[in-house]
Amino acid sequence: NHRIVLAARPQGLPSVQDFRLEQTALPAPADGQVLLRTLYLSLDPYMRGRISESPSYAPPLALGEVMVGGTVNRVVASRNPKFREGDLVLGNAGWQQYALSDGMDLMPIADTKHPSHALSLLGMPGFTAYHGLLKIGDPQPGETVVVASASGAVGSVVGQIAKLRGARVVGLAGGLDKCRYVVEELGFDACIDRHDPQFAQLLAEACTDGIDVYFENVGGAVFDAVLPLLNEHARVPVCGFIAHYNDLGLPSGPDRLPQLMSALVYKRIRMQGFIILDQYEEGFEPFRRDMGAWVADGRVKLREDIVYGLDNAPAALIGLLEGRNFGKVVVRVADE
Ligand code: NDP
Repeated sequence: NHRIVLAARPQGLPSVQDFRLEQTALPAPADGQVLLRTLYLSLDPYMRGRISESPSYAPPLALGEVMVGGTVNRVVASRNPKFREGDLVLGNAGWQQYALSDGMDLMPIADTKHPSHALSLLGMPGFTAYHGLLKIGDPQPGETVVVASASGAVGSVVGQIAKLRGARVVGLAGGLDKCRYVVEELGFDACIDRHDPQFAQLLAEACTDGIDVYFENVGGAVFDAVLPLLNEHARVPVCGFIAHYNDLGLPSGPDRLPQLMSALVYKRIRMQGFIILDQYEEGFEPFRRDMGAWVADGRVKLREDIVYGLDNAPAALIGLLEGRNFGKVVVRVADE
């Protein structure tokens, strides 16, 4: 059984040396437990927060602990009456080939054709997009919605749902390939390359009526370009701020907080953060129903960036934090 543990606390951008591959004996399930084999492991930006000591909504992972992560698992042995050998489940096995569970954290996966969708479209990132956009952003037909990391797991779904709501959607992404995909494959109205030296100007030209909903995934220079374009009564669901996840202190440069405060007040802007974990009890069923239908009839889709082999998970997580992924990052840990 291979597993990857946190070897050192990263300073700034993590390096592969911050992780260690270990080999352990295959665990045996006790009464009430199941033994899980991991087929897919989801890699997500929140993992950067879990391996840091700074305060967040979840306690930091201790050195030597197995890296956390959502997984698609096959039940390979069961001593729990609720599960049978061969069942496909959504679990939290983390970065390891095999894990034990008492079944409390497992959910059955019905879509056996695309089981990895339980980690993206039909799971946490899809739910994040759905909740943040519809419950906080509340886009109206004809309004302009802007979303960053537009080809990513959350951003790509945000834009597609906003289109279904009749909004005009402008994506922001790193590089022309991603931008082309977002417009041609996902049907956004426009997409601007955040690396373009003229980025702020191009964004303003793409949003001639201003911005009514800005779905915030990144912060940093992207938010600086968005802020002056926000309309009166704009809504800003604050989902993440990945441009700062590796920061070691406050960014240099002038303090822009007064500019933000004045925009919030004078334009009556509503900016609201959320953590999707809080929403499962009430919101997950309606999400599953709506998204299940949209995915089934092809109105919402997602590109997966599949990485083969658990050993490659550390490098892939670093790539995700640097914007080298193209789509939802999923590690294929085992075939069956
Ligand atoms: P993505 O698939 O979007 O991957 C991350 C992307 O972020 C990169 O591909 C890159 O896209 C972009 N990025 C990286 N660095 C920067 C930077 N310095 N400036 C601007 N963009 C950058 O990841 P997810 O869809 O999984 O997550 C998107 C966001 O949602 C993250 O901030 C994450 O933390 C947050 N999140 C929040 C949740 C919540 O409950 N609040 C739940 C789930 C996710 P590109 O190069 O194309 O711009």
